[in-house]
Amino acid sequence: MRFASIGSGSRGNATLISHKETTLLVDCGFSARETEKRLQRLKFDAGDLSAILVTHEHADHINGVRVLARKYQIPVYATAGTAAGLPVDTKDLVREISCHESFSIADIEIEPFPVPHDAREPSQFVFSDGNHRLGLLTDLGISTPIIEQALTLCDALLLEANHDMEMLDNSEYPDHLKYRVSGRLGHLNNVQSAKLLEKIDTSRLQHIVAMHLSEKNNSPNIVAPLFAEALNCDQSWIGLAEQDTGFDWREITNR
Ligand SMILES: [Zn+2]
Ligand SMILES: [Zn+2]
Repeated sequence: MRFASIGSGSRGNATLISHKETTLLVDCGFSARETEKRLQRLKFDAGDLSAILVTHEHADHINGVRVLARKYQIPVYATAGTAAGLPVDTKDLVREISCHESFSIADIEIEPFPVPHDAREPSQFVFSDGNHRLGLLTDLGISTPIIEQALTLCDALLLEANHDMEMLDNSEYPDHLKYRVSGRLGHLNNVQSAKLLEKIDTSRLQHIVAMHLSEKNNSPNIVAPLFAEALNCDQSWIGLAEQDTGFDWREITNR
């Protein structure tokens, strides 16, 4: 299995998961044109997407879904709640999924799980090619036992590290936004994410990438050492997804 990102953060998110002939786009928070352009950087053609999976209906995850899905007639997988938040003329392309039931799209098996976030029916995913597991977890206020169970023994983890609590506290954000971001239905702060890493079995981990970093209230210089400490590894091993460039293809290998 290989994976990449064309951008991650509050101004747009989209992740690629690929195995054999199957490539999934998880969320599409950029305009369709911008998405096509960014996919080209990864030498990938939007017309070759097998499906789009949508985690939840916030704009930074669905901006380009309608136009991209219509243009290339790509099926869109989402929970009923998330689907209800998509534009009406996306409906005929939607395949409804349950947060609690695994399903397959060609070569890739997908295990969805529910997360606490202020959306209608948000879901995040573990992807499997039969041998390896890749966990994607962003946009949640707190961790839960279901999440920890889902993410245990992954070979790759794409994990939200949204904000540094002190930076958020001292930011110019209005109080209601500070509460929203740091609340139980908001986003994981760096310490929460590091604690999650300490809690789950990471003995198989080949890749860790910090995702959805706030550009205003976080810094790679804070995230990398925290994650390195939690995993007892070198800081240089911690990947960081950028808002403008995401990250280049990475591969999970047999070992
Ligand atoms: Zn988001
Ligand atoms: Zn969100």
